[in-house]
Amino acid sequence: VARIGVLALQGAFARHADVVRTLGHQAILIRAEADFAGLEGLILPGGESSVQLDLLQRLQLEEPLRRVVTFGCPVLATCAGLILSARRVRAPEQRSFDFIDVEVERNGWGRQQESFEATSDHGRALVFIRAPRIVAVGAGVEIVDTFEGEPVLVRARNVTCATFHPELTAEVELHRALFGVM
Ligand code: GLN
Repeated sequence: VARIGVLALQGAFARHADVVRTLGHQAILIRAEADFAGLEGLILPGGESSVQLDLLQRLQLEEPLRRVVTFGCPVLATCAGLILSARRVRAPEQRSFDFIDVEVERNGWGRQQESFEATSDHGRALVFIRAPRIVAVGAGVEIVDTFEGEPVLVRARNVTCATFHPELTAEVELHRALFGVM
């Protein structure tokens, strides 16, 4: 059984924890520094990235978070989690942690498409909720999947980022690929 942390300050963490348990792992809801101890994987969920950023700062969780990501365990960052992980955030500009060399535009898929379901260019089920758009990808970043030609799933080293919500579909393939199954 692996200890998989799910940042649980705000947003869509509950379903991620369910998927982690479905795979036979222990889901650690992260709300304090001690919760980062001994993690073998980490999920940064969707939600409101500005609120998450504010809470991380106020609870002094930024350094422990950086340490875990830099340490190299598999990290899955979705939607707001991707926004926190990006090198640069636009529209509106926002501080971010630079865990992956991409540039994102918040709510970049347009107001008329606040939330929608679609299928990726590789046949993956996608749920977008006020999703960020990846507008630039650095040289070291692998584009794993696209939607209408645009990157929606990217990876560099141990960090995998999705613009969509993989925990809201019936598929657990992405979580399984990253964290394995017991
Ligand atoms: N629009 C949100 C933000 O800017 C992200 C939406 C989501 O995580 N589903 O933080």
